[in-house]
Amino acid sequence: MKKPLLIFDLDDTLYDTSMRIDENTPNFAEMKLYPDAKNFLESSSSEKILVTYGDVTTQEKKIETLGIRDYFSEIYICRERQEKLDCFKKILGKYKIENLKAILVIGDRIDSEIKYGNILGMTTVLLWRGKYKELKPKDENEIPDFKVQDFEELLKLLAGGR
Ligand SMILES: [Mg+2]
Repeated sequence: MKKPLLIFDLDDTLYDTSMRIDENTPNFAEMKLYPDAKNFLESSSSEKILVTYGDVTTQEKKIETLGIRDYFSEIYICRERQEKLDCFKKILGKYKIENLKAILVIGDRIDSEIKYGNILGMTTVLLWRGKYKELKPKDENEIPDFKVQDFEELLKLLAGGR
């Protein structure tokens, strides 16, 4: 696949949210990108967009703390989980990519970004690790096109031309 447009989820896709102070308080002092995610963001020349769900101030602080702002041409912060679908639609409207399969949605949740990506006909890649690893698909929209264990596998997938 040639230079697809990449849409990323943030929480548990680019860093591990399990290190936190309590249920509602991320541990900003210890917050780090997954090493393979960092390597991917640095080495991939594809255009990247971040679509994340959560409180705007908190998500902004995560982006700042992780130092990832410049990797993305656009960042969308959704205040409702389902708003991700609308963000994806906005991106489709804006980028006008005819081949929807040339847009990759990369995330850790089959019931969120994977589902919405599938509904819209984009290529979906499940990062199969972390706390949502054991979620079972409730219908075919929750089945990703690809499953990778880490970003090194994603690099290989992209390099392989599929
Ligand atoms: Mg996530």
